[in-house]
Amino acid sequence: MKLESARAIAQAIRDGQASAVEICRAALGRIDDADRRLNAFRSTTPEAAVQAAAALDARPEAWADLPLLGVPVAFKDNICTRGVPTTAGSRILEGYLPPFDATVVERLARAGAVFVGKTNCDEFAMGSSNENSAFGPTRNPWDADRTPGGSSGGSAAAVSARLVPLALGSDTGGSIRQPAAMCGVVGIKPSYGRVSRYGLLAFGSSLDQIGPLATSVADAALALQIIAGPDGRDATCLDTPVPDLLAALTGDVRGLRIGVPRDHVEGGLDTGVAEAFEQALDVLRREGAEVHDVSLPHSAAGIAVYYLISTAEASSNLARYDGVRYGYRTQRAESLGEMYDLTRDEGFGAEVKRRIMLGTFVLSSGYYDAYYLKAQQVRTLIRRDYEVAFERVDLIAAPTSPVPAFRLGERLDNPLHMYLADVFTVGANLAGLPAVSVPCGLAGGTLPVGFQLTGRPLEEATMLRAADAYERASRFSRLSPQL
Ligand code: GLN
Repeated sequence: MKLESARAIAQAIRDGQASAVEICRAALGRIDDADRRLNAFRSTTPEAAVQAAAALDARPEAWADLPLLGVPVAFKDNICTRGVPTTAGSRILEGYLPPFDATVVERLARAGAVFVGKTNCDEFAMGSSNENSAFGPTRNPWDADRTPGGSSGGSAAAVSARLVPLALGSDTGGSIRQPAAMCGVVGIKPSYGRVSRYGLLAFGSSLDQIGPLATSVADAALALQIIAGPDGRDATCLDTPVPDLLAALTGDVRGLRIGVPRDHVEGGLDTGVAEAFEQALDVLRREGAEVHDVSLPHSAAGIAVYYLISTAEASSNLARYDGVRYGYRTQRAESLGEMYDLTRDEGFGAEVKRRIMLGTFVLSSGYYDAYYLKAQQVRTLIRRDYEVAFERVDLIAAPTSPVPAFRLGERLDNPLHMYLADVFTVGANLAGLPAVSVPCGLAGGTLPVGFQLTGRPLEEATMLRAADAYERASRFSRLSPQL
């Protein structure tokens, strides 16, 4: 059985056409075969996975209702898994074994999913290409000389290569949607507060959200349904109940108003991306949606605002990695101060150091008003732009990334160039909005392109209805790479 559709796998096990152990071994076997080349996984947990699958097979009547019965899943390596290495792609967390599971990990297990491994990512989720992982870059399954995007590149590559049908990532400024786009899979960044961040290694706490990557909108919607909802262990997780997201996928977009921020999306687009984007709008028009121009006048400041706020929050969040409590500690120190300095110097990579320094700088007295405070003010303007736009339209459409997957090494010597990969994704994080990327074609006939829809706060249902309707009409989600 193909490791493609989570729902089909659960149904096959339910119907007795496959066993959970069989499916689990198939996933582990595919990872063994393909991952030497892709480097999508940081670690796998074969014994525990087969054991969990066998427990499901042992009592078919007891588990028949579980929505993800026997579905192999992978987690980005910045999501805590009890007793299983969790490094966030960093040397500084080498040897760290979390004593607890993240809420999302618990919820997926309770829904019958079988955890098979942890996926590679940019160090502490800082990056757009997976090249900032301390453990080597992940390769794009569509073209091994290219990056899978980042920072959840391992999760995106694993789903794209059909090693697992479902994986979780985290998205602070685009890290689920951008790699999903570049690997030709579906990725959802939920509204801020929709999903508990308990057990996610924090990067930018006012921006971070965990979300699913899958091969269809329906699978991703199902996974989101399971992980979302109130959690007393994360104070920012909202008490709002989660609507039935699968039931919302009616295929009907008649009368839905979709806004295109032309001033923002025009210029600097790869031609293959621009073509695929316009064709996707045509498909939605044919399905009965209305497409209107809208304006997001402050979006040009999005990247600057994001890299001020996210680095400020990161500098504070990463202060805890000091060699005392978690993971790596230097062997060379002769005093306590030296121990802190050397541990951080040896444990963190160059990009993480750059962000900590930037973040510390923008928060320092004398610069706080000019940078951090100003960025917060512009963040408010960006959020208001969306509020105004959402008075006229129900959803906002844009390409997920201005370019398809770029070559490994191509953007490494210019951080700003790398940061610009996020122009269309950071807005949703700054404004706390839900956004989804769905495959919308192949640029130059070879590289996946993603179509992004952004919704009103907590209106994932409308957003996913449109993404699913588009997917049904276009069927680009069905394309998979030749490995
Ligand atoms: N690429 C962006 C960054 O480097 C986004 C990262 C993310 O969403 N985690 O910050």
